[in-house]
Amino acid sequence: MLFNQIAYGPIHSRRFGCSLGINLMPADVKICTFNCIYCECGFNTKVHNARIPSRDEIRNALESKLEELKAQGICPDVLTFSGNGEPTLHPDFDSVMDDTIDLRNRYFPQAKVTVLTNSTQLHRPEVIRGLLKADNRLLKFDSAVERTMRLIDQPVSKNFTVVKLIEYLQHFNGNLTIQTIFLRGSYLGNNIDNTTPEEISAWIDALKQIRPKNVMIYAIDRATPVRELEKINKTELECIAGLARKEGFEVSVAS
Ligand code: SF4
Repeated sequence: MLFNQIAYGPIHSRRFGCSLGINLMPADVKICTFNCIYCECGFNTKVHNARIPSRDEIRNALESKLEELKAQGICPDVLTFSGNGEPTLHPDFDSVMDDTIDLRNRYFPQAKVTVLTNSTQLHRPEVIRGLLKADNRLLKFDSAVERTMRLIDQPVSKNFTVVKLIEYLQHFNGNLTIQTIFLRGSYLGNNIDNTTPEEISAWIDALKQIRPKNVMIYAIDRATPVRELEKINKTELECIAGLARKEGFEVSVAS
């Protein structure tokens, strides 16, 4: 599923309520530094001449959409950066955040600006700067076990490791939300399961190092490019959440 507009929706999100999506990537192709086996946009494809929208195009598209919603009497709860890939890959991400906050303040001051990111661009200071401007930043952390992270997220760069990721996530001084999807299944002959006791124990140890202000855990919701994936039920997610809560973390569950 690809989003063919810069500002799309609003859609009802199980995690955020009435959510107006903002897609900073091209309308016809997904661009991402991960290739997650559960990605709702499907697997990465070879990209030829894909055009990333400019800062001005994004601002104009967002303003038109907000005007339209205002005229219809629809108030979004959140303006969510998501879409066809990783939003922080946009070369003007930091300035786009400034524009979005300015427009939000003018049209829907109560709406929260939220960024969903895969955490791969945290080595770029301007990305950290942009993320810190959001009301909510949700940073992906799907497994603290290197092999499992590589199987689930399939990072494009070999240099991206769990150890480095934890180090970068610590730079937020706790001012972040960690998002983790739990799943089981198999892909290309590998069993994948980030719900085992060893996985959960490593995940909680990592949380202790990152010290996030909250943690959001969730299960597969829509069709995934790998068919052999199991949706973890709410009871099991609550059980995992309970283990993290015992260690003092604030955890929300979406299933
Ligand atoms: S990080 Fe997000 S957009 Fe990128 S592959 Fe994973 S789920 Fe898809």
